[in-house]
Amino acid sequence: MKEKYILVVDQGTTSSRAILFNHNEEIVYKSQQEVNCFFPHDGWVEQNALDIYLSVLFVINDLLLKTNLTFDDIDSIGITNQRETTIIWDKKTGVPVYNAIVWQSRQSASICESWSKYKDLVHKKTGLIINPYFSASKIRFILDKIENGQERAEKGELMFGTVDTWLMYKLSQGNIFKTDYTNASRTMFFNINTLTYDDELLKLFNIPKCLLPEVCPSSYFYGNASALNENLRIRAVAGDQQAALFGQNCFNEGDSKNTYGTGCFMLMNIGEKPIFSENGLITTVACSYDDKCNYALEGSVFIGGACVQWLRDQMRMIKTAAESENYAKRVPNSDGVYVVPAFVGLGAPYWDDDCRGAIFGLTRGTTKEHFINATLNSIALQTKDVIKVMEQESHRKIEVLKVDGGATANDYLMQYQSNILDTKVMLPNCLETTALGACYLAGLNSGYFADIEEIKRIHKYKKEYLPDMKKSERQEIDKKWKSAIQATRMFK
Ligand code: ADP
Repeated sequence: MKEKYILVVDQGTTSSRAILFNHNEEIVYKSQQEVNCFFPHDGWVEQNALDIYLSVLFVINDLLLKTNLTFDDIDSIGITNQRETTIIWDKKTGVPVYNAIVWQSRQSASICESWSKYKDLVHKKTGLIINPYFSASKIRFILDKIENGQERAEKGELMFGTVDTWLMYKLSQGNIFKTDYTNASRTMFFNINTLTYDDELLKLFNIPKCLLPEVCPSSYFYGNASALNENLRIRAVAGDQQAALFGQNCFNEGDSKNTYGTGCFMLMNIGEKPIFSENGLITTVACSYDDKCNYALEGSVFIGGACVQWLRDQMRMIKTAAESENYAKRVPNSDGVYVVPAFVGLGAPYWDDDCRGAIFGLTRGTTKEHFINATLNSIALQTKDVIKVMEQESHRKIEVLKVDGGATANDYLMQYQSNILDTKVMLPNCLETTALGACYLAGLNSGYFADIEEIKRIHKYKKEYLPDMKKSERQEIDKKWKSAIQATRMFK
């Protein structure tokens, strides 16, 4: 029989991608197209929702053309997407009533401020902090902004979706109006204890329930992408970070991954009971492949690989991001220099919006090599701060850290991460872990993969890093980093 493939649509903030996987989790082909962002005002980030859909159509068609395949060669589709981004459209025409408001956008900050009194209630029910990132205040913003928005919503004339819902709605010619648990858990009105929309929160936010899509498991038969082909089945949906956790084979309690992109996204599978963080982490729903539901703790660091871009573009110390590795390796350590890249404040576990970056420990002997070394170290040290809180709150030691994202190309950084955590760091063969997660979820639903054991068998690693640092040195670094963070936060 002819080999079939799983087609993954990975709709990210900067681009849409279609990725074709075979049975050995190998990428057969990848097509990519950028998606524009608009910045109508300071701190606002919007996209054209139709552009998002058209870019997805483009990459799917491009992939089929380039590989000379047809939809008959596709077993099923899995969708993974940028989370929280909010789209509202007219039920009759399918036309968006406002631009997509992107997760990063701060335009609904004042709405969040007016909700601050619900902080504890929101945290207890949704696992989130009140923040414009999440969809609730973006929905409120749109309904208040467009003419008769609230009235139209209440009459059932409008539909809300995150990007997964929007894409499925369009791909199914309006037949599918669904989302999955992982995406729903980022709306700020989804109760993660009961796995249902929370009536009390919806009432407080004045968001009518008829606006909302049905919530389903991540690995699930959602319906057919009939706009493309009658028999093309959508069998998985998951938010990007949760999909990456699944793609990294973090199926069990305690399994953790960190993505080193522009920022860092750290997620830990915490099993079947949610843990509500008291130290700035978020609790979210993880992807499940069976009837059980797993939860994850999540912490994000704002500036990860971005500080390497800063070394390149602002400091002009390196020409390419990759060069940072060579410089860092030319010295035995940072010679007591610490860089705290709090360029936009600090994310988890500090959530300090107001502090700004700082550098400590400079001497006459400090060189460019030390400076670059210290900047790379800061990515690993910020990650460690998040991990320490996760370990403390989950009462589990992270034995292995699975890693992905652009900055994992840096061998120095990965070794240093292992050293300061005193933990094994594992880099998978397939770095497209987000898409791979959606591939697994779709394939498990269709029977393309027999079970989770088969996935564990085919999953391969490219490299392992083992800790190689004296305990005393690690302790000294921990102490200095802590005081660097304290001093950074004092300078306001
Ligand atoms: P995103 O998905 O956030 O766009 P990517 O996963 O594509 O991010 O990773 C891009 C980031 O990785 C950039 O911030 C870049 O500076 C960093 N990066 C890429 N290569 C290296 C490298 N060899 N060493 C350190 N950082 C790197």
